[in-house]
Amino acid sequence: MKREQFWRELGVGPVWRLRGRAVEEAAPTAAPQAPPPPSPPAVAAPPAVIVAEPAATLLAETPDERAAAIAAMGWDELRTAAAACQACELCRRRKQAVLGVGDPDADWLFVGEGPGADEDERGEPFVGQAGKLLDAMLAAIDLRRGQNVYIANTVKCRPPGNRTPEPTETAACWPFLSRQIALLQPKLIVALGRPAAQTLLQAEVKIGAARGQLFEHQGIPLIVTYHPAYLLRNLPDKAKAWEDLCFMRQTMRGR
Ligand code: URA
Repeated sequence: MKREQFWRELGVGPVWRLRGRAVEEAAPTAAPQAPPPPSPPAVAAPPAVIVAEPAATLLAETPDERAAAIAAMGWDELRTAAAACQACELCRRRKQAVLGVGDPDADWLFVGEGPGADEDERGEPFVGQAGKLLDAMLAAIDLRRGQNVYIANTVKCRPPGNRTPEPTETAACWPFLSRQIALLQPKLIVALGRPAAQTLLQAEVKIGAARGQLFEHQGIPLIVTYHPAYLLRNLPDKAKAWEDLCFMRQTMRGR
């Protein structure tokens, strides 16, 4: 798909001239966020929960034990554990946990921020407006959701009002994302927006400064780009997103 066609399909038109300096990306919905604490993150011990499955979750009494239990899980256990998780406040208002979607053998891993209302309803990441844009971005580099692509979020439960997840929530959810990465062993991780970039890089990140650079997460190449929800609100930055997509494709060609 040509880039003009890509953006036309999104209804944003072929406008390629940058008009002045674009506003730097803030976190999609809220003020800048401090990076989460180092891994394994320190979080309050999950409340004692009486559930039948999985046994590993039942036995986890401290954050470290919980993280270790999650680090030993396969995909099915991970999904069950996320569905039963009560490690942070986000569990209270979720309809369902949204673990991730895609090819378990994917070379590409895209990581967003957290489920919104549509995702909470359907149980799949990026199914709302931002998801449509993400799908178009994937198509622009000949990728399709579910084919060599896995999509996940930094938190698995919807933050109320789609606010940016708190560092404690991101930290509590980190064992799930960490295990997903370990199981997938992707060739490239793409952090969509600031919360994902900060979680994966364990550092303060400004997207405008970080894009175009090749980072690493545990030896896996990592590229940072704008969150699709941000792009929907900041159309002039679409040209930069296109550059980032080209950089991703070029990076993958060398792998
Ligand atoms: N935004 C995200 O970061 N993730 C989703 O799943 C949906 C919207």
